[in-house]
Amino acid sequence: MNQATLASTDTDKAIKTLLSNRVLIPMTCDHCQQDTDVSMETLQSSSTFMCEHCYQVRSFVPAELEVLQLLLTQTGYRITG
Ligand SMILES: [Zn+2]
Repeated sequence: MNQATLASTDTDKAIKTLLSNRVLIPMTCDHCQQDTDVSMETLQSSSTFMCEHCYQVRSFVPAELEVLQLLLTQTGYRITG
């Protein structure tokens, strides 16, 4: 029975990890209005992303990241398999 509890926890963790690390989100640059694909991992670890078109760096506050992650989950960004 302990095994089952443990497995369930591991699955939850794995889903969160997959979601946060692998999903690329097109972020629109404030400067040139072009999209750059950024992973949640990058956003969470540095709270910034650099535009690949004009190299402008955009910063995020934690609240923005939380909203972003919530939106992604709600719009079906769920990794299966
Ligand atoms: Zn740009």
